[in-house]
Amino acid sequence: MGMVSQWRRRKDMETVTLPHRNDPDGYDRERITIATIGSHTALQILKGARDEGFKNLVICKEEMAMVYSLFGVADEILTVEDFKQVLDNEFQNELIERNAILIPHGSFVEYLSPGRIEDELFVPMFGNRKVLEWESNRDKERKWLMHAGLKLPEEFKRPEDIDRLALVKFPGAKGGKNYFLAENPEEFERKIVKFGLSGEFSIQEYVIGTRFYPHYFYSPLTDKLELLSMDIRYESNIDGLSRLSHIPPDLEPSFVVTGNLPVVVRESLLSQILDMGQRIVRASKELFSPGLIGPFCIETVCTDDLEFVAFEISARIVAGTNLYINGSPYSQLLYDEPMSTGRRISREIKEAIALNALDKVIY
Ligand code: AMP
Repeated sequence: MGMVSQWRRRKDMETVTLPHRNDPDGYDRERITIATIGSHTALQILKGARDEGFKNLVICKEEMAMVYSLFGVADEILTVEDFKQVLDNEFQNELIERNAILIPHGSFVEYLSPGRIEDELFVPMFGNRKVLEWESNRDKERKWLMHAGLKLPEEFKRPEDIDRLALVKFPGAKGGKNYFLAENPEEFERKIVKFGLSGEFSIQEYVIGTRFYPHYFYSPLTDKLELLSMDIRYESNIDGLSRLSHIPPDLEPSFVVTGNLPVVVRESLLSQILDMGQRIVRASKELFSPGLIGPFCIETVCTDDLEFVAFEISARIVAGTNLYINGSPYSQLLYDEPMSTGRRISREIKEAIALNALDKVIY
């Protein structure tokens, strides 16, 4: 069972300059600790680190310590009152003392914010930090998907332009909160008033079809793309509506993620799925060199013409990979051992250390 301790600022701790960002040269490569924030996909990241022979550490709120302790996956559990404390120089020193490499995930990015990760986080982090800005800024995200040549839903710049079923989205990784459907400008105005919504939003054509969220991994060490697994998000209340024989007219569909379902695609569709992944990697190298490193997921809808439309990208490990801690039908084709995305990240770090190329996977 992991050691649990509450992090407190040490009075005697000198604040040293933090030299390690992007350059883990001062690190003892034999004693790396894989560290992450306790939420989202931390269980598989911690287990994966152990499976690859690394020590691990989880930073969590006090109420979550029990989870990591009872599942027995953490070597060390550090509790904090607020995740922003991770950015405190003294906290970062503690991580650096442990030769820590941080693994980002959805909650990690949400709690610390892409800007602060870029400017204030000095601890080496797996992946390219620039990617966090590209996935969280809607204009940049769209530019990236378009540069890759993927098919995108129509975007309506102004509510007056809505000429078909559209989804109004509010920013931030809030799990589809407050999204609503509108078929024309009048419906948009009526609903924005009815729900009392304001602030930034984007309006996207609502694509009808079946959703697929493929989980990719790109290795800069081998220059290879892997399809590790795939899921469909289970969303409330939209996924409950089909159980009703009659949908009340003023019932508004919502898109709040509540879980994930496993899925595989028709084998003949795999060429399109892999092609999308390769295009995204290529475009990332052109737009923000060295581009994507490690896990990413393209959110897609497959229409009845068997064409994929991509409406979002997540450029880090996604929660849908939690279905596959023991591997997936796809990862089993690639590996003879259970290979979760969390474990694959640690495998990449291990291989980078062996090749003396840690600087290729940490930015
Ligand atoms: P997002 O916040 O973009 O991940 O969207 C949340 C959910 O809304 C998705 O998982 C889909 O179920 C749905 N969704 C988002 N955009 C579209 C779209 N353009 N067409 C159809 N469904 C969408």
